[in-house]
Amino acid sequence: MKKLFPALFIAFVFSLISCGQTKTSESFTAMNTFMTLSIYSSSAKKANSVCKQIQKKINELEGIFSTTLPDSDVYYINHNKKLPDPMKPDLLEILNFSADMYKKTDGAFNPALYSVIREWGFTTENYKVPSVQRINELLFHTDYSALCNSSFAANVSVTDGMELDFGAIGKGYAADQAVKILEENGIKSALLDFGGNIQTIGRKSDGSLWRVGIKNPWTGDAACALKVEEKAVVTSGGYERFFEDADGNRYIHIFDPKTGRPSESNLESVTIICPSGKYADCLSTALFVMGKDTGIEWWKANPDINFDFIMITKDRCLIYSENIQDFIEPLYQFASIEVVTR
Ligand code: AMP
Ligand code: MG
Repeated sequence: MKKLFPALFIAFVFSLISCGQTKTSESFTAMNTFMTLSIYSSSAKKANSVCKQIQKKINELEGIFSTTLPDSDVYYINHNKKLPDPMKPDLLEILNFSADMYKKTDGAFNPALYSVIREWGFTTENYKVPSVQRINELLFHTDYSALCNSSFAANVSVTDGMELDFGAIGKGYAADQAVKILEENGIKSALLDFGGNIQTIGRKSDGSLWRVGIKNPWTGDAACALKVEEKAVVTSGGYERFFEDADGNRYIHIFDPKTGRPSESNLESVTIICPSGKYADCLSTALFVMGKDTGIEWWKANPDINFDFIMITKDRCLIYSENIQDFIEPLYQFASIEVVTR
């Protein structure tokens, strides 16, 4: 779980004028992530006000989803207390969405892994490899299906030992809420970067598509560029956060819920491209855990969920879904490039 610190807003704002539109950028730290909002508008005053509204909303969401802030709703749930306030709509939505995606991904996305992830030290940075017995004890309490059948409308109480963690979808959900605010204010062109979770609104102010870089897991440069409009582009990668033991074994922050161990996926990264940030964030984590073949099968079997993917495998292959074929530009000498069709 990425540590969710109190929103430490190191904000700076600047505006640039291009194509008759003013670009207003604002950067700050929230949800333990450096976030940048870039908004194009004919009114800098309006863009500034929208930036403030988005920051306020993200702050509010952090106060609900944080696993570490002692007065957050998730903290209350994890300590098996009654919620401090009536169920908040954002919490209700994320609980229900998580239940749906837990079932649909056959548990590859599991927001009830917090006790396991913490045991490995990912919240405290006191990293260690727990014993098999300890992992199994904790795994026993991670069956989110126990929650899926309950009605969340009024309250939520987890079974003994279960602890929730929305680290795999929180930023995507926050991006969706930011998009709502932008739309309500009539903003037609914007780019949000929530620590590498990209959300694009409309097109660039000159009418062209946004060009988003997908990180090269080995060099840190861009492995490919992708042209998009009106889409979330979210990547989950083992290289983002990990620790190594004395023998050089690498343990990453994305967990296989079946084993309670860092995923040993054959993928270096999965990028999901779709209109919704919460789907993109959830599915990038889930498909990473599933690995290449199961992930591709899952995409084929779920055409009702409108998304595309880019996979970078450990053996340096690039695999992507057919719809983005005309929009992707490889920038690295991959061992092979495969386009997957349904
Ligand atoms: P992401 O970077 O979006 O892939 O999310 C990874 C974060 O989600 C981790 O830091 C954990 O807090 C949490 N997490 C790890 N594995 C899983 C999983 N299989 N399902 C749900 N959340 C997970
Ligand atoms: Mg995710």
